[in-house]
Amino acid sequence: MDTSLPGWRTQFASDNTAGICPEALEALQAANAGWLPSYGNDALTREVCDHLRELFETECDVYFVFNGTAANSLALATMCQSYHSVICTDAAHIETDECGAPEFFSNGTKLLTAPHREGKLLPADVRLLATRRSDIHYPRPRVVSIAQTTETGTVYRPDELAALSSEARANGLRLHMDGARFANAVAALGAKPADLTWRAGVDVLCFGGTKMGLPIGEAVVFFDRDLSAEFAWRCKQAGQLASKMRFLSAPWLGMLKNEAWLHRSAHANRMATRLAAGLCALPGVSLISPCEANGVFVSLPPAADAALRDAGVVYYTFIGGGARFMCSWASTEVAVDELIALVAAALA
Ligand SMILES: *Cc1c(COP(=O)(O)O)cnc(C)c1O
Repeated sequence: MDTSLPGWRTQFASDNTAGICPEALEALQAANAGWLPSYGNDALTREVCDHLRELFETECDVYFVFNGTAANSLALATMCQSYHSVICTDAAHIETDECGAPEFFSNGTKLLTAPHREGKLLPADVRLLATRRSDIHYPRPRVVSIAQTTETGTVYRPDELAALSSEARANGLRLHMDGARFANAVAALGAKPADLTWRAGVDVLCFGGTKMGLPIGEAVVFFDRDLSAEFAWRCKQAGQLASKMRFLSAPWLGMLKNEAWLHRSAHANRMATRLAAGLCALPGVSLISPCEANGVFVSLPPAADAALRDAGVVYYTFIGGGARFMCSWASTEVAVDELIALVAAALA
């Protein structure tokens, strides 16, 4: 890490404040070599799609869009009619951070929320919301949407995914996964991507690229290929069809090669584990959500909060009620240890 870069020791606001991962940047640069067909009809984009099919060990359909809001909204709009509903938690990004885009792009599909339990949706809550009403006045439940990792830094284990998907199936619902931090979940669990998605009943995955180190872009992966039939038109209409698609897709090549995406995400997770351990050893600091991937959610004494702000450390306090520190591929042990030292000094 180039320590002459601004923010390297102070930025913990989000994994998207980090720059482009070297492997992704190299692949982006390499893609800038001459003329290629536009709108995704190029060899590079095809190659990435093939890589993803290999990674997921199945014939899935893959589309690239600019951000997670578009990926989630367009995926849900494709899975639902306007009179349907989507079951998710009250902390879901689709509920709290997408400005109504899922409802907008689906022309009115309603989100039905259950209180999150350490970020997660439980099968019992799915059952409750799916069976509460079946009359014509209630928006018909159609999809269960979960985030992996969750918005509070926890990770659904394969058995939890299996329980959720069987509850969804039993109620005639499809399963959507907001994988803005899917890479961190895979790294944390050491599981095969297939076992955390289609083998566990996931129909559509929004595979986050931005937060794992791409310059921009997410992949929408349809394991149920019938669902993707007209997705290309939906993307185009929503302004999400990149004409120079190769620059959206090519960085994936660099990340997928030699499992860079996994190594980089494992690093981010390790930095978070280190930070959580260091902070929680201090008096008055405690986790408010288990640290299972690359996010650390803690309650901080006011003196520690003030000292960190004074030192210019950047992090959020509006997500989850405490302080949220996000680590990324670019986080360093030095920066993590400095943060811990600042809190230790403030509490001494
Ligand atoms: C960051 C994030 C997204 C994507 O957000 P965009 O800003 O639209 O790219 C989606 N879901 C979760 C849980 C996120 O943290």
